[in-house]
Amino acid sequence: MTDQPRLTRNQSLVFNTLGKAEGPLSAYGILDEVRAAGIRAPLQVYRALDRLMALGLVHRLESLNAFVACCRPHHHAEGAMIAFAICEGCGQVSEFSDAEVARRLSRWTTAHAFHPTKTTIEIRGHCRACATAA
Ligand SMILES: [Zn+2]
Ligand SMILES: [Zn+2]
Repeated sequence: MTDQPRLTRNQSLVFNTLGKAEGPLSAYGILDEVRAAGIRAPLQVYRALDRLMALGLVHRLESLNAFVACCRPHHHAEGAMIAFAICEGCGQVSEFSDAEVARRLSRWTTAHAFHPTKTTIEIRGHCRACATAA
């Protein structure tokens, strides 16, 4: 990535931790991973996460109260919809975006004069591997 914004040391540590994670991590899960690097206060993690989310590099999964690295940073336009398929078996999260769904949602918001700042869809269920194993 050539156009990656400059990150502070703490932001890089948090971002790399999420990038390496198999699934979403809570703020405290992140703290456990970065403690060895000298980040000891939850507030340091929250500050880094706020900045990373503002940059669109990290997303918050509201239903899990956990965080994931964006699968393709810089892809999201302001206010664009983001969808996550969250596997309740293995914890894997797949991020996607769908222009057709986004158009339908914006038709509703336009019709109701609602001004969206953020649209996140979370689908809970089982991924192919877990559904097959069950
Ligand atoms: Zn994303
Ligand atoms: Zn699964």
